[in-house]
Amino acid sequence: MDRAELEKLSLTVPCPMCGAAPGEECELNSGQPRTAPHRDRRLNAAESEKAMDERTSCFSQIPDLVGGIFF
Ligand SMILES: [Zn+2]
Repeated sequence: MDRAELEKLSLTVPCPMCGAAPGEECELNSGQPRTAPHRDRRLNAAESEKAMDERTSCFSQIPDLVGGIFF
């Protein structure tokens, strides 16, 4: 994932640093919009992306699990 992609993704999670809601850009203390999301927000976005990947791969295994339990 490149930096621009991660910054775009950052906008899908709230910012723990400045409290920007999902879909809103990070703000400076002065209220001016930042050019880039806060670092912690990008980290959260990366984490949520990773969690999504794990859930997705987990879901793809469910048919096997269900099959193992019920058949
Ligand atoms: Zn922020």
